[in-house]
Formats: sequence, C-alpha cells, structure tokens
Amino acid sequence: MSAARPARPWLPRRVLVTRSALAFDHGRAIAERAEGLGIPVERLPADRLALGLPDDPAAAYAAAKKTLAVVVAPPGKLRFQPIAPSADWRVDLAEGCPAHCSYCYLAGSLKGPPITRAYANLPDIIAALPRYLGEGTITSRSRARADEGTTYEASCYTDPLALEHLTGSLSALIAAFGRWQAPVQLRFTTKFDAVAPLLDLDHQGRTRMRASINPAPYARFEGGTSPVAARLAALAAMARAGYPVGLTIAPIIAAAGWEQAYGTLLAEAGAALADVEDCTIELITHRYTPGSKAVLESWYPGSKLDMGAAGRVEKRTKFGSVKYVYDAATMTALRSFFTAEVARWLPKARVLYWT
Ligand code: SF4
Repeated sequence: MSAARPARPWLPRRVLVTRSALAFDHGRAIAERAEGLGIPVERLPADRLALGLPDDPAAAYAAAKKTLAVVVAPPGKLRFQPIAPSADWRVDLAEGCPAHCSYCYLAGSLKGPPITRAYANLPDIIAALPRYLGEGTITSRSRARADEGTTYEASCYTDPLALEHLTGSLSALIAAFGRWQAPVQLRFTTKFDAVAPLLDLDHQGRTRMRASINPAPYARFEGGTSPVAARLAALAAMARAGYPVGLTIAPIIAAAGWEQAYGTLLAEAGAALADVEDCTIELITHRYTPGSKAVLESWYPGSKLDMGAAGRVEKRTKFGSVKYVYDAATMTALRSFFTAEVARWLPKARVLYWT
C-alpha cells in the first residue's frame, strides 16, 4: 500500500451566512472559523441566498462546489426519516459535499446548484434526537444489529468529516451521543481522513465511523477526496481511540479488472485493521437513477465511469421510482467474490448488508 499522504482540507472560496444563521452561536462560530482560515465571509442581511453563479454550466458547477452557505435547517430536517439499511434514522448536519465523485448519490437527491449548506441550528437538531429513541426500524427486524440500539446516520446528504474543520458540527454531535445515557449509536461514513479533532472526544463508544473506500485505481472517480490509504489510516486511528469502526465499500464498481482491484483493496484494509476487534462491513454496488445519471453526465462529461445500459437491469424501488443496478450474473459474481475475500482478509469483521 502506498504511504498515506495528508489530504488538503476544503477551503471554500465563498462563505455566506444568512441572517437567521447568525442568530445561533454555532452559526457565528462557523463564520469565525472560516475567517480564521482566511476565507472571506459574507454576513447576509436576509435569509435568501443570492448565489450569482455564472451562466456557463461548467463554471456554475465549479463556483457552487466552492461555496459554503451557513443556514438554518428547515423544520423538515428536524423530522427524521428512516434510512435502512444503513441506520434507523437520518440526521443531517449539512447538505452537499465539496468532493467530485463521478457517481455521487447526492446528484439524484439534492436539487439546485451543488453548494454545501451547513446547519447553524445544531442545538435544535440535537434536541430532536430523543424523539426517535426506541423507534428503530433496523433493530426491530435484525437481531444481528440489536446491540447497536437506535441508530442515527449523519452521512446521508453530506460527508460530515469533509466539513468538520469549518463547522465542528460532527464533534458536537459525537460529544452529545457520548453524554446520552441510552442504547444509541451515531454513525457516519466518509471519504476523508481528517479525524484529528475527533480522537480525544468523550464518545463513550456511541459513534461508529466507517471509511468509505474504493481501490486506488478508482481514485479517478473520486475527485477531491482523501487517498484511500489515508482513509484507512484514519479509521485505524479512530479504532485506537476506542471508537467502533467499519468499512463502507461503496460503490462497488464492476469495471475491467475489478477482481484484482478489490482484492488488493481488501488486503490493504485487512492489514490496516488487523488489530481491530469491532469492525463492520457494508457492501453497496454501484447504481444510478435516470435523474442522477443526467445530472452526473452534466457535471462530469469526461468521466470514464460506465453508466451505459450493458450489464444493467432496471429495478423499481418500493416507491415506484426506477434505478439501474448490475444484472444478476454480475451481482452474483461480485457477491461471491466479496463474501470470500472479506472472510479471507477481514475475518473478524461483521458484514451488515449487501445491496
Ligand atoms: Fe458525493 Fe460522498 Fe463523493 Fe462527497 S464524498 S461527492 S457525498 S460520493
């Protein structure tokens, strides 16, 4: 495995803070952190975000990806949604991500230009958590995960570690779970490695970090993220700090040579996590919707990520929408490979699900 080189933290070009966000200590603290990093901060007199993005789509995408808006999470964000199979409930600290993954799942779920919004009303979000205690959807049907208690996933609409140096939101949430004397687990998954602020928190083992990983040759699909070796090193550091950890192998991409690429990745992960007792694995194959494909092809017109019809089948979700997944033969080959190779390289790890 190549040596882990440090990733550069994201420094947005613009930080906009709405008037309502400035009413929160946390909103003002984010503004001050950004200024401390030398980023100009625009304190807005109102709540409307006048982005003034260029007309050219590529330039608008680039400008949006360099913009952080600090806003108040709308009331709907305080009504948590179930998010199986990852966790019982979704808790959002932010929406959007500064990285440039050719398959990004946010392309199908977020509307408008891809700016990142960080939420200033963190106390409201933390106060909403107990309303969902014991209301688990995973734990009620999976004895294998009963020990986790009620689970809350913080990575559905963002990569919270990518923003942590600017927001401090993830640290605050981990500390809140550490203080919460109840059977609960905060979960987050990340393609970044800057875990230093998290290592000394009083987490009480109630937060599980997963590193979202893909083989180093697929780094071309994951622009702006930390190198995979750095992510694994960060995860090992978190395990040494007493956190339960895991791997999200996602999305699994059946590109030419995938067996060798994922075999090497799993061997590297096994070496990095050899001493870790509590490690889970989540296995998620690449999929897309017609909507996400159109957005991704507009954002990344030169991407080599295959989103053609060959080797794919249409699948209807329980809500009636369409997604494209690998065909049965490809799925079978992938699944039997991962079953064998995970057992070989990560024998102590517990596979939570395959999808
Ligand atoms: Fe999307 Fe995750 Fe990549 Fe961010 S790191 S661009 S959220 S896939």
